[in-house]
Amino acid sequence: MGLNTKELIKKYGIKLTKSLGQNFLTDDKVVTRIVDTAEITYDDLVMEIGPGIGSMTGELASRAGKVVAVEIDKYLIPALKENLKEFSNLEIINEDIMKVNVKDITVNGQNMRVKVAANLPYYITTPIIMKLLEEENDIELMVFMVQKEVAQRMVAKPGGKDYGALSVAVQYYAQPEKVFDVPPHCFVPQPEVDSTIVKLKKNKMPPVDLKDKDMFFKVVKASFGQRRKTLLNALTNFGGFNKSKEEIREILIKLNINENARGETLSIEQFASLSNQFC
Ligand code: SAM
Repeated sequence: MGLNTKELIKKYGIKLTKSLGQNFLTDDKVVTRIVDTAEITYDDLVMEIGPGIGSMTGELASRAGKVVAVEIDKYLIPALKENLKEFSNLEIINEDIMKVNVKDITVNGQNMRVKVAANLPYYITTPIIMKLLEEENDIELMVFMVQKEVAQRMVAKPGGKDYGALSVAVQYYAQPEKVFDVPPHCFVPQPEVDSTIVKLKKNKMPPVDLKDKDMFFKVVKASFGQRRKTLLNALTNFGGFNKSKEEIREILIKLNINENARGETLSIEQFASLSNQFC
């Protein structure tokens, strides 16, 4: 048996950096459940974001064909390397995930399924997820630990307070599923928030036909930008559509959407029809 997370922190004299979202998992059962959720096999190339000192990395490497772990904090790299030296299928990259081209990582994994597993740093959760969804890459499945509220927003359906631009964006690119909650006592140090594991299966085809993807996201942004305004006012006030209030009203009538509705009641299909009318 190797050393556990707390023993490793002590052995290497590691000082945890709060600003990098360093809350390390100490509960092996949670680690096993996360890796189970990703259904990892030897056919998989797994990219782990933020391995920390490797609470989850060994379990990933023992089940996957290859693991590439991207960690921004150079002070963690020596401990990570020494602690996991038995795994010849593990590559550790000291880099900011936001600067990594995922295609460069997966280029040597031809014929392997590409998956992502991460206990994400919470200060940068949404930018990381959106980067991986928006850019062109071969990722099929992602399993993330995120703040509970973020998970609720990702899976939210129209009509509720959690439904917003993040829900639409995530559900345009993937099928998100909440898997299980993880309480603060499973980490060191304990975060001040509850956490949830989410599984995102990337869509092979977009769920809606769009004339212009940028326009779609512009309409979504405008609709949720002023949540307390009616859709008609929010779209008019946004000012970026080159359309008068009357023209926008006519589009809404044509699509059978109540002009007094709020953005949070519109489905992805309705946002798609709306944005196609703005092109
Ligand atoms: N995977 C480990 C675990 O479960 O114990 C650590 C998870 S901790 C919540 C998040 C990790 O992400 C930290 O190790 C942190 O240094 C790293 N990190 C933060 N920002 C990063 C970035 N932009 N790119 C890569 N890693 C980052």
